[in-house]
Amino acid sequence: MDITLVQGDITEQQADAIVNAANSSLLGGGGVDGAIHRRGGPRILQECRQLRASHYGKGLPTGQAVATTAGELPATWVIHTVGPVYSTSDDRSHLLASCYTESLRVADSLGARTVAFPAISTGVYGWPMADAARIAFEAVRRAETSVTELRFVLFDRAAYDVFESRL
Ligand code: ADP
Repeated sequence: MDITLVQGDITEQQADAIVNAANSSLLGGGGVDGAIHRRGGPRILQECRQLRASHYGKGLPTGQAVATTAGELPATWVIHTVGPVYSTSDDRSHLLASCYTESLRVADSLGARTVAFPAISTGVYGWPMADAARIAFEAVRRAETSVTELRFVLFDRAAYDVFESRL
């Protein structure tokens, strides 16, 4: 698997799947989530509502992942995963790692070969960028997957530089 880094907007990525830093409601939010629903159109939210009505009545648990189609986005699939909120008193690293490995597991189940990830939990959820990058790289390197290209899409130069220095 090739690991690549780009600075940019995840909603513009040409990839089989892009990963959404969702919240457990699956019904939209800010940051990556807001951008995906805004650019992807109503179809994605409709499928998220169906997921809430069927398998995920209580919402998607932290560290898990589930797919919908990608509406009007250039990708084929959106894989929604719920990152942990950062805490200094409670080590939630395993949940952040799980977002990456579970998203790759879902990607494999879809037959996706190229997958773009944002820096999960580093926005509203407050995870320090360098630590998030370390956890992300460790998790994806350990994962057994048929994905051939894993692209980290970093929104700004500062985030890109941190990921690059950790790669
Ligand atoms: P979380 O709630 O998991 O912290 P956020 O969406 O708030 O998720 O932020 C996750 C990371 O994604 C942050 O580093 C943020 O700067 C970045 N980000 C925000 N919008 C986009 C976008 N359109 N494309 C890629 N990354 C984005």
